[in-house]
Amino acid sequence: MKNDPVKVGVIGVGHLGQHHAKHYKNLSNCDMVGIFDVDDTQSAIISRKYNIPSYHTLESLIKKIDAVSIVTPTKHHSAVAKLCIEREKHVFIEKPITQTLDQADELLKIAKQKNVLIQVGHIERLNPALTALKPYSINPKFIELQRLAPYTSRGTDVPVVLDKMIHDIDILLSLVHSPVKAIQAKGLSILTNSVDVAHARIRFENGTVASIMSSRIAKNDVRKIKLFQRELYATIDLFAQTTEVYRVLKDEKQGSPSALIEPFNYDEKSLYISYEKPILEKTDLLKVELKNFISSIKGTETSIVSGVEGRDALQVALKIQNKIIQDLH
Ligand code: NAD
Repeated sequence: MKNDPVKVGVIGVGHLGQHHAKHYKNLSNCDMVGIFDVDDTQSAIISRKYNIPSYHTLESLIKKIDAVSIVTPTKHHSAVAKLCIEREKHVFIEKPITQTLDQADELLKIAKQKNVLIQVGHIERLNPALTALKPYSINPKFIELQRLAPYTSRGTDVPVVLDKMIHDIDILLSLVHSPVKAIQAKGLSILTNSVDVAHARIRFENGTVASIMSSRIAKNDVRKIKLFQRELYATIDLFAQTTEVYRVLKDEKQGSPSALIEPFNYDEKSLYISYEKPILEKTDLLKVELKNFISSIKGTETSIVSGVEGRDALQVALKIQNKIIQDLH
């Protein structure tokens, strides 16, 4: 079994799910068994496009696989994932894991009983602009995260906090290792009947403060993070995939060979400012994410974003959403 390819399927082959199917088809260590979508026409188009069998019922696909990507609209994640996990299938669930915390907790509980993996598609964790921070000792005191996106009807089954902001919440929780202490939030509906624009201020128990703003009514995509801590300032553009890091050094030898280093004096001390803009390799993040899912099933890697982390991001997102709703009434 360990050396056998993982038999995999995709449920929901719309805008994003079709790319899951395409990548599985080309990945080693897995066999792309088939796809299922409630929309037969869409299923047939993707089946023809990538030469992948299309199944007419979920049941018939589930019988043939070991693992599956669930890429349906969010409101269906819980029911579809539950069915798959109960049949002992490993699941990759696109973000957000589910719509409610009870649904996420139920999936985690059954997955533990059935000894299967849940991985969640918080793909930004793999963004090279974010992973470029790894060489630095990151301990942010203040972080500003901004995410703006042009309107599309996809994703509007949930408010912007669960659709867009949850990406930044997941990033934030991966950078600040401290429990959330307090949340203030404000939001409004512009086009849809749910919240389209949201702002939250999150205070963590270690004193870190984050300001997050998300909108799904914008002209252009913007995904930016500014991170401040003692002797370090970083600006991260997740959309353009660039990262710039400014640091204060006591000795110019502490700087990396590629850094621009300028001397400066402060408080009668001679210090240096180092500026680094690492050259980042552009990769297909979804391909890397799905390869990691297959390797995690095989036990050769650890999931980049576990089911528990997906659940924790959802918990903070729902707290923000509840504050917004309380404020609106
Ligand atoms: P979409 O509407 O384009 O596609 C969803 C597909 O699922 C459709 O083809 C639909 O017919 C099918 N479907 C609906 N209910 C189903 C069911 N019960 N069983 C099987 N198929 C079903 O949506 P999308 O933009 O591809 O988004 C899908 C999911 O991916 C959402 O949860 C969304 O939040 C997530 N997403 C994540 C990212 C990311 O950056 N990680 C980006 C986009 C979307």
